Parts: sequence; structure tokens; C-alpha cells
Amino acid sequence: MPPSAIRSVAVFCGSRFGHDPVYADAAAALGKGLAKVGIRLVYGGGGVGLMGIVADAALAAGGEVLGVIPEFLQRREVAHAGVGTLVVTGTMHDRKRRMFDAADAFVTMPGGLGTFDETIEITTWRQLGLHDKPILVCDIAGWAQPYLAAIQAAVDQGFAGPECLRLYEVLPDVDAVLARLAAVTSPGAGQPERV
Ligand code: AMP
Repeated sequence: MPPSAIRSVAVFCGSRFGHDPVYADAAAALGKGLAKVGIRLVYGGGGVGLMGIVADAALAAGGEVLGVIPEFLQRREVAHAGVGTLVVTGTMHDRKRRMFDAADAFVTMPGGLGTFDETIEITTWRQLGLHDKPILVCDIAGWAQPYLAAIQAAVDQGFAGPECLRLYEVLPDVDAVLARLAAVTSPGAGQPERV
């Protein structure tokens, strides 16, 4: 199999830990797994919740980490002092843009409203043809089911076409995510100037 075309992955995940410890375990496994295969982690730059866990695990395993945090959130999300590169943006929109530009693919891990927002936005950008980068939703312990059900409901109600269900892939665990990333041989091009 040719080598993976994925060099850099943006991970969207919670700034909290969630109640079930399996979420933290999965976040650590993802950070470590990305580092082991030499994929750079791009994330929101915070040191809190699952975000901090992914970054710490990647760094501990010798991985490259790029954090992107807006100025006003540096204190609330405890900007991670240890990441290789920390980009401080003026706005949330700049953060999203920088993360988009820096990533060959996107992985969503368990999280809250911010995670939903980031995932749905990158998915709608793909729906609009603004990019063709893989979007992987990691459904740890069924975490993503209500999110996925909302999209399915939009299709069932006639507000989205069934092709929307192919804009993203749902993987059951971190091993499946890493295997999928390894199998991507030609990442879709981003066209950020149209975003
Ligand atoms: P949460 O899933 O709510 O814990 O948030 C996860 C990350 O998403 C945090 O870094 C938040 O700052 C970020 N976030 C929250 N709202 C937004 C938004 N509207 N756009 C981009 N990122 C956001």
C-alpha cells in the first residue's frame, strides 16, 4: 500500500473530560497514536479537558503539536505552554481558518458544543465543495450517536440530501481512526480562499 498522504490532522474534542473515563483514555490513545506514525497534531491549543490530554499524549510520545488558540481564550482554556508551536489568533474565526489550513484531515473526538460547531462547520464546507479533506467522527462508546441522529433527521425531514451522510466517516474507536488515516493516499485539496 502507498504511504499515507496525511501528514497533519486537526482534532476537535472537548475542553472538558466528560463523565466516562473511556473518553480520556481514547484521547490519550489518539495523541500517542498520531505521534507514533509521525502525523502532526493540530488542535485548539488548550491544556484543559480532552484537548489537553490529546496534546500531552502526543508530546509525551515525541509527536509534533501545533496549537491554535484565540487571544481571549488563552486564560480560560489554559493555553498549553508545552506545545511545539502555539499560534495565538485574534478571533475564533481566525482559529478555525488556521486549523483548517494546517490540516490534511479532521478527527472529531467526544466533546461539547464547540466540538459540534467545529465538526458541523467543516462538514458544511465539504458539502459546499470548499474542500475535500477526510472528516472522521470517532464514536467512542456511542458518544456521537445523538449528533449523527440530528443529521439523519435533517435528511429524513427533507432538509438535507442523503449524500450528506457521505461527507464524513464514523469510526468506532481510535484504532479504526488511525487505520483509516493510514489508508488515505490522496487527500482532498483545500480551497480556503473561498471559505
Ligand atoms: P467544547 O466541545 O465546547 O468543550 O469546545 C471544544 C473547543 O471548541 C474549545 O477549544 C472551544 O473554544 C472551541 N469552540 C467553542 N465554540 C466554538 C466556535 N463557535 N467556533 C470554534 N471553536 C469553538
